[in-house]
Amino acid sequence: MIKTANPVKRLICYDLDGTLAESKSALDTEMGGLLHDLLAVAKVAVISGGDWPQFQKQLLPNLPHDKILANLSILPTCGTKFFRYNGDWTKVYSEDLSTEEKTKIVSALKKAVETAGFTAKQVWGKVIEDRGSQITFSALGQQAPLAEKEKWDPDFAKRQKIKAILETVLPEFSVRLGGTTSVDVTRPGVDKAYGIRKLRDLLGISLNEMIFVGDALFPGGNDYPAKEAGVVSIRVGGPSDTKLVTRAIIASLS
Ligand SMILES: [Mg+2]
Repeated sequence: MIKTANPVKRLICYDLDGTLAESKSALDTEMGGLLHDLLAVAKVAVISGGDWPQFQKQLLPNLPHDKILANLSILPTCGTKFFRYNGDWTKVYSEDLSTEEKTKIVSALKKAVETAGFTAKQVWGKVIEDRGSQITFSALGQQAPLAEKEKWDPDFAKRQKIKAILETVLPEFSVRLGGTTSVDVTRPGVDKAYGIRKLRDLLGISLNEMIFVGDALFPGGNDYPAKEAGVVSIRVGGPSDTKLVTRAIIASLS
C-alpha cells in the first residue's frame, strides 16, 4: 500500500517552560537565534499555561526583535489569549472569565483550602491570582522560594484533596494541578489542544501541517492534549534537546 505523503510542515508549536527555556528562566541567546532562523522558513507558535508576563520574562528578552516576529504567535493561558507582533506585541483577543465567575471561583478556592486545612502560615506574594481567563491558586504565594515550594506538596496529595473539594462546588469549571504548588481553575476544555485549534482557525493551517515540541508529552502531562489532538509531536528532555530538534527542522525546511 502506498502511504500518502505527509504535508510540508508550516507551523512549529513549542511549549515554553522546560522546552524553550529552563524552568522559570529566560531562553538563552542560542535558542533566541535558532527561533529567529526558524521564523525565516516557517511560522512559529509558543503555547503555555502561563500568562503574558511569563512570556515577557522567559521568551522575549533574548529573541532578536525585527519584522520576522510577524511569523510568531504567542498563546498565553493555553490560547485563551493570543498575541501577535506588528512593530510591537499586541493582544488579538482575551477570553476572560466574567466577574461573577471569578467571584465564585475565588470564594470556592479560599473555602476549599481552609476546609482541607492547608492554609499556609507564611506566604510570599499573592496566593490567588486573577489571570483573566484563569484563576490560579499558589499555596505559598507567587514569589515563594523554589526550595519551600518543592517541600510543600511533592506527591500532589494536598492539591488532590483541594481539587476533590473544588470539583464538588465548581462542577461547571475545570480544575487542574500545575507547577509545584498551584491549582488552576478555568472554563472546561482549556488545554493545549484548545490552543492548537485556535491556531488552526486563526492562521488557517491544518493540524497535519503542524509540529508540536514539548517536555510534557506523556499521559497526564500538560503538553499531552496537543498530541491527542493529532499533531505530530516531539518530546524533549529540555532546551538542549529542543535546540537539536529545531536545527533539524530548519535544515529540513530550508
Ligand atoms: Mg513544559
